Amino acid sequence: MSLLVVGTVAFDAIETPFGKTDKIIGGAATFISLSASYFTKNISLVSVIGGDFPQNGIDMLHNHGVNTKGLQIRKNEKTFFWSGKYHNDMNTRDTLVTELNVLADFDPVLPESYKECEYIMLGNLTPKVQMRVLDQLNSKPKLVVMDTMNFWMNIAMDDLLKVINRVDVLTINDEEARQLSGQYSLVKAAQKILAMGPDYLIIKKGEHGALLFNKNKQVFFAPALPLEDVFDPTGAGDSFAGGFIGHLASTGSTSFENMKRSIIFGSAMASFSVEKFGTERLENLSQGDVDKRVQRFVDLVQFDISLVEK
Ligand code: AMP
Repeated sequence: MSLLVVGTVAFDAIETPFGKTDKIIGGAATFISLSASYFTKNISLVSVIGGDFPQNGIDMLHNHGVNTKGLQIRKNEKTFFWSGKYHNDMNTRDTLVTELNVLADFDPVLPESYKECEYIMLGNLTPKVQMRVLDQLNSKPKLVVMDTMNFWMNIAMDDLLKVINRVDVLTINDEEARQLSGQYSLVKAAQKILAMGPDYLIIKKGEHGALLFNKNKQVFFAPALPLEDVFDPTGAGDSFAGGFIGHLASTGSTSFENMKRSIIFGSAMASFSVEKFGTERLENLSQGDVDKRVQRFVDLVQFDISLVEK
């Protein structure tokens, strides 16, 4: 089924204990699209880049079956740029630079062929842009998933709350869930955030996995794969989101049970993403790699218990 992805297509400069990069290709929508491409080939991208963005970055998206008709190119402007630094604890990072550049006044225009998409992934970017995308759809989609971050909570909270009220699934990390809800307990935070509109909330906890909550107080936990080295966590959340919605779109069911499965696929894609800098690891996976990785998740959490009544 058709998947529409909106989010940043960016340059990132990253520093981790393993090394440092100059400007490399990144962005929420880039990671989401690449990750989702292992599940569905019907991906339509909405984003904006400057004239400085290399053609081989666009080619890489095409090679993964991503439709870039909705990718605006502003020849005389600069691409969104983000720079971040991770310390030994790779679960937290410092944002060093965020240059909005082309994103500052981006007005997304959906090509006609995008307007009937059934699965919508509102990746991290300006809440007003996320809203403009929803406003241009011709019919009610089957599922809208949204990601955001503290940056937008700090500068555009009112707009953010309006979008959150219109989505089915919100994915944020634990720190952001606490900031958004004002609650330290993640269970209480989830209740408060679900009252803001979404039917489902996914709280990402980095190397400690992810929690899925729904309004009926059901909870599901998926671990992260224990890896010897996490090389670069940038894009892990987006790769997770891409695997999650890509698997949902390819299977066509939005039941809680299928969401649980999709979270495992999302976690598997995130585990690949962190093994190399930027998008490198996500660029050349095979179906066999994905299947084997998912099997490792199954093995990780499977156990037999017989409860004997006394
Ligand atoms: P993640 O590590 O999954 O949270 O996402 C990292 C990606 O998000 C990087 O490739 C950045 O280019 C992008 N990014 C960083 N800050 C922002 C922001 N304020 N809005 C949109 N995308 C961002």
